[in-house]
Amino acid sequence: MTDAATCDLLLTNAIVVTMDPQFTVHRAGAVAVTAAMAYQAAETIDCGGRVVLPGMVNAHTHAPMTLLRGLADDLRLDVWLMGYMMPVERAFVSPDFVRLGTRLACAEMIRSGVTCFADMYYFEDAVADATAAAGMRALCAQTVLRFPTPDATSYEESLAHARDFIQRWRGHPLIVPAPAPHAPYTCTPEILRACAELAVEFDVPLHIHLSETALEVEDSRRLHGMPVVPWVKKHGLFDAKVLAAHCVHVDEGEIRALKNYNAGVAHNPTSNLKLGAGVAPVARMIDLGVNVGIGTDGAASNNDLDMFEEVRLAALLAKGTSGDPTAIPARTALAMATRMGARAMHLDHLIGSLEAGKRADLIVLDLDRLHNVPAFGHDAGGIYGQIVYASKSTDVVDVMCNGRWLMRNSALLTLDERELRYAARTEAARVDAFLVSREVSVLQKLVAVGGAVEQESFEVQVKARVPSAEKVMAVIGGDDVTVIRSSHYHQYDTYWSFDDPDQGWLRYREDEFLDEAGAVTGARARLTFTGRTREDRFGSVLLSRSRYYAPATHSARFYREYFRPAAERIVEKDRRRWLVAYRGVEFYVHLDRLLEPAHDGYFIEVKSRTWSRRDARDKAAVITDLLAVLGASPDDTLSDGYADLAAGRPS
Ligand SMILES: [Zn+2]
Repeated sequence: MTDAATCDLLLTNAIVVTMDPQFTVHRAGAVAVTAAMAYQAAETIDCGGRVVLPGMVNAHTHAPMTLLRGLADDLRLDVWLMGYMMPVERAFVSPDFVRLGTRLACAEMIRSGVTCFADMYYFEDAVADATAAAGMRALCAQTVLRFPTPDATSYEESLAHARDFIQRWRGHPLIVPAPAPHAPYTCTPEILRACAELAVEFDVPLHIHLSETALEVEDSRRLHGMPVVPWVKKHGLFDAKVLAAHCVHVDEGEIRALKNYNAGVAHNPTSNLKLGAGVAPVARMIDLGVNVGIGTDGAASNNDLDMFEEVRLAALLAKGTSGDPTAIPARTALAMATRMGARAMHLDHLIGSLEAGKRADLIVLDLDRLHNVPAFGHDAGGIYGQIVYASKSTDVVDVMCNGRWLMRNSALLTLDERELRYAARTEAARVDAFLVSREVSVLQKLVAVGGAVEQESFEVQVKARVPSAEKVMAVIGGDDVTVIRSSHYHQYDTYWSFDDPDQGWLRYREDEFLDEAGAVTGARARLTFTGRTREDRFGSVLLSRSRYYAPATHSARFYREYFRPAAERIVEKDRRRWLVAYRGVEFYVHLDRLLEPAHDGYFIEVKSRTWSRRDARDKAAVITDLLAVLGASPDDTLSDGYADLAAGRPS
């Protein structure tokens, strides 16, 4: 934007809401643009009294996730992210997917008056490419995670991608490249430090999710002895120009720290509400001088990219949660979506207000709509209330970015909406087919979420009541049995069953390791999937198959909400476990005392891995013999295990 004397384009007869630091409004004003685009002839446009505003700044989104809009709603953050988003992303996200999703997002954002957004995703090169082609401006941040992603098999590789990406796009007129360590809980201290160093080396911002949920903060306190902001500070994050999304659960000290490190915050009210994360203390942040922008977050958690909704919600939430209707007035909310958002993104030298010398990113808004008449002139600031509380994104009629029109008279000029709608539906049909096939079996769902299922094993095993623990201990310590190792646990088992019994069982087990004195020395959690089918039976000894073990990387609550079992049984027991050799064969022997459901007496379980039917039959014979030695009756075995016992079924 420049002086009228030398301009290429003049917008006249407009209410110019500059959003400069003085909040200057020019009624019957004009905006002069020196267009960068050579093909644009010198022109004057009469705005007919409409409002000219700086283009809105969407301070946090994942543009390609428009293609996952509505994929999974009304779920908790971890189930939503780890159970649905990430498995689908692993299977589908490619440069083409990302390009299409970004174009869809750009079309939607241009319609809602956005000219610049802060992105974070995979294949960010394709995001940048599609964004630049659509004529929009963006901070494009390449994601780095501690586990494999759709575009990298290791964090070293994704870091190398981020470096390449930044080198390629630095200095582009529309794209500002950046690294994005996804979040403290999905990164390691080394990743945080390496990303910060990368951002400093190339003098670009750094984009991250911080303190989104109370759980994240609790975990940080438990694991690191401090909340999230000081922990990432400790690992050098704030050496970079940080744009931190969310910051829902930050205390006063952390807010002051964000201010001191000049970190920008992206407030995402809809996403935080929809995922039940809470409401960020943005009024306090702004009071303390933190630059707070407004973001839509990805379309998978919103489910749209409408900045007018976000701005309105940001203003309303601050009032509703504080009981103070003066909190975040309309003017402040609009500043968050423009100048302050640009500062949060560390781009305020270029954009965010209509001031001489800044880039020509602007929108024209028609306030002469039914839902926005009449208007009053007694308060000069009333225009902000009109824009924030009554306007809708559909009131945006013209959008210009970097001196180029992206929308004129509500028609998109750089993107084909019809083609985008068709392509997005085609992509969604593929994702749908994938999810339907995954839902067919518990095992497929387990593979989809864990990735870490270890192996299928075959084993011969039997469970039986024993009259006394002393007898078992005496035999184990005796001459016929050689103890290879022994351990003692307190086990909490959650068994889940499904409507279709062929789906088998899923067991979530938390083991506490006990020492000689019975004190807890450690813990682990494992997930076991057991097929319902028994392969064979040798007397009372069963040959079972389809056992898959995986370390349980999520909570029992996560798996319950993800698998949605039909029934749940709890079994708690004290277990002594021995690996023994008896008659030349190795067995695990478990001596169990059931605590829940409470049960008198003891059970013994004997099991061994097996490789063939003949091996199974031979081992079954030795097990039957060992059972007799241990004093168990072959008539008193438990063919369906403890879970059925917990269900009160006859054993
Ligand atoms: Zn996000």
